[in-house]
Amino acid sequence: MIEPRPCRGDSLETMQDSTQRRQAQARHTVPISGAWRRTARGAGLLDDDGNVAASIFAEMSALAVRTHAINLGQGFPDEDGPAEVLEAAHQAISAGVNQYPPGRGMPVLLEAIARHQQRFYGLTLDPETEILVTAGATEALAATILALIEPGDEVVTFEPFYDAYGGVIGLGGGIHRTVPLRAPDFQPDLDALCAAVTDRTRLIIVNDPHNPTGAVFPRHTLELIVELAHRHDAIIVTDEVYEHLTFGAPHIPIATLPGAWERTVTISSGGKTFSLTGWKVGWLSAPAAIVTAILAVKQFLTYVNGAPFQPAIAVGLDLPDSYFSSIATVMKGKRDLLAAGLRAAGFAISVPQGSYFIVADATPLGFSDGAELCRRLPALTGIVAVPIQAFCSRANRAEYAPLVRFAYCKKVELLEQASAQLAALSSR
Ligand code: PMP
Ligand code: GLN
Repeated sequence: MIEPRPCRGDSLETMQDSTQRRQAQARHTVPISGAWRRTARGAGLLDDDGNVAASIFAEMSALAVRTHAINLGQGFPDEDGPAEVLEAAHQAISAGVNQYPPGRGMPVLLEAIARHQQRFYGLTLDPETEILVTAGATEALAATILALIEPGDEVVTFEPFYDAYGGVIGLGGGIHRTVPLRAPDFQPDLDALCAAVTDRTRLIIVNDPHNPTGAVFPRHTLELIVELAHRHDAIIVTDEVYEHLTFGAPHIPIATLPGAWERTVTISSGGKTFSLTGWKVGWLSAPAAIVTAILAVKQFLTYVNGAPFQPAIAVGLDLPDSYFSSIATVMKGKRDLLAAGLRAAGFAISVPQGSYFIVADATPLGFSDGAELCRRLPALTGIVAVPIQAFCSRANRAEYAPLVRFAYCKKVELLEQASAQLAALSSR
């Protein structure tokens, strides 16, 4: 029998096949060098085999979707911000505010930020030279750290720390030194703070109110940070995204303390204050020369962002004092609601003085590993939370192992539901 002659299409790989084959080979062979590795390591996301994990927020939000659990993990509100602010964005889009805004930010927003800093803190800023609008506080932090450190410089933060700090310090080749915050009040030991800051320190990053612990730092701690920055010629970077969410003592921006302004970069954003975390409009303020240095980096990260959202956030920043005091009052009520639910479920909790978050110790419930508890929590209770270990360097995770962070920036009904579901833990 005569074999049929193979025609071209039978014998040759199709273009699609060969592309797939090449892709499959590439998946196994091409080494990916670059700064991603030290970035992921800095954020605690690189495992021993060199694999990079998703951030804890991405992982836990995906878990919540998969299990239909109530997401008290990632900190985002489940209600929109003020109607005036939303309407201003609609209007800006309709009015054609849809092209690149100026590199430093739209004057209407720069001026509103200056008015806000004056109204709440008595700080007088030049909107043209001392303020920079950024893609959220995240870009403000990244541009600041990358602009101001050289490889090998030390950067001091508290620990646990917001993951972006570790990631960007790693990206910039910095050395991350931490000062522990310990339960129950999560205030730093001042001798440890003094010991961590040395002549090698380039930046001291402060996050007040603090994520994930909800701590608010008293004036004497902030004054010591200013003193240490002077003594060791360091710059202070202060992340104040929860500035309007303190539940007792008013927020003290470090830049208002004597001797601080000249060496402080103050960072905030509209995400938390206006419940608009997806808009990613942030800003920083600092002396003009520091702003110009940071702009040199920022312009090559995003260049600019959020044209129609900038005038809308300006409307928000000009809202009456009553708006700002009421968000703190409402959030305090939510904190108390979830705190009661967590206590009733059997957790030992630290009552936070600010932010969106409450830290719960699972030890009384018989859990010594918060990461394991967070993986099991959807099945046990239908709730998602995040382990505090995810905010710690690998070396220090054990110390924070039983602690779990719950977000209370959610509707009251949802927090009531969550509290009822958490009760399943105590009756296990
Ligand atoms: N800093 C802290 C402490 C945060 O919790 C967050 C998350 N909202 C950010 C910075 C990032 O803020 P943004 O969403 O404005 O980039
Ligand atoms: N800031 C939010 C939190 O701490 C999450 C931000 C993020 O997902 N990167 O939960």
